[in-house]
Amino acid sequence: MLPHDIQAAAMAMLHHRTARLRDGDPVAEPLVTTSTFRLGDQPPPDAIYGRYGTPNVEACEARLGHLEGAPCTLFAAGMGAIAGVMLAALKSGDRVVLPSDGYFHSRVVAGDILAPFGVEAVEVPTREMAEADLAGAALVLIETPSNPGLDLLDIEALAARAHAAGARLAVDNTFCTGLLQRPLDLGADIVVAADTKAAGGHSDLILGHAATRDEALTERLRAVRKFAGMIPGPFEAWMLSRSLETLELRMERMCANAAALADALAGAGVAVRWPGRPDHPDHALAARQMRAPGLVLGADFGGRAAADRFIEGAGILAATSFGGTHTSADRRARWGDAVPEGFLRLSAGIEPTAPLLEAARRGLAAL
Ligand SMILES: *Cc1c(COP(=O)(O)O)cnc(C)c1O
Repeated sequence: MLPHDIQAAAMAMLHHRTARLRDGDPVAEPLVTTSTFRLGDQPPPDAIYGRYGTPNVEACEARLGHLEGAPCTLFAAGMGAIAGVMLAALKSGDRVVLPSDGYFHSRVVAGDILAPFGVEAVEVPTREMAEADLAGAALVLIETPSNPGLDLLDIEALAARAHAAGARLAVDNTFCTGLLQRPLDLGADIVVAADTKAAGGHSDLILGHAATRDEALTERLRAVRKFAGMIPGPFEAWMLSRSLETLELRMERMCANAAALADALAGAGVAVRWPGRPDHPDHALAARQMRAPGLVLGADFGGRAAADRFIEGAGILAATSFGGTHTSADRRARWGDAVPEGFLRLSAGIEPTAPLLEAARRGLAAL
């Protein structure tokens, strides 16, 4: 069970629309597909032109705001949110520090696309980030837990170090969503997240958002999105709003399934990495910083053939990405991650737990 304050946020998110209804209004959110609006003398900023804002984007941001405890800006992809934050928070001559084992495309934007504009990207392994030299940095972007190593960073401690160095701390909170981890409450300045993953949760949309309590930065993010054309279409925003209504429910089951899978695999002698297990090096930090240990676990089957036999025997979906309704497995060495050939990143889905465990046992029997 998630703690009370987080349940309250989930409740507010679920009832965001119904709390505002008047007699005769549709209970479900209408999808409004328009590129332009009838103009009066004082048009509201979200009802002028579709690239500035639309009702579905605005409603979705309001729902996400309950989750993050801050104003949110929706982008057409998780990478849109990350690129948007870099464009809004960095200038020529600035240094950005980010994890060398972090999301590959964030490193491409910082180190490749922004390099000709005079931005310097410094990559540090997550395990060394807590002691990294942040002098001269304008922005520190971290992922905790890291992907796919599932190493944790102490957000509160790192926020203090970043601020002492004059840098902002941004946390890519895709793994956890605001239900499992609230970086802004721990001192981070910015949250970015790919809602493509657990927040969207049905493997059917690409979307992201950035959240910050810094009003000037939110204004800058909105300007970057508006002028650079990074806003999602109404349909994607509408789909995410719908998904957010069941996020807490899905998250509970996914985390419970992750725990059950971690136990079953570890019990069969597979090397499991999951922050909820006492043998994880950051177990105590996870218990303090995260509301639940998450839906993603790492499992090393000792070789590529064994990992493939497990997937085949269990009948588990082989796919990249995570956070969808179906339990899935991704052999990360395929993507060049610094992990053993037989390492699977498993994303626990919302299947009933008993048959999922039976499937895992069939996979283990095939080893
Ligand atoms: C998927 C992902 C992203 C990028 O999200 P897109 O919606 O694919 O652009 C960024 N960070 C993390 C941690 C991710 O898993």
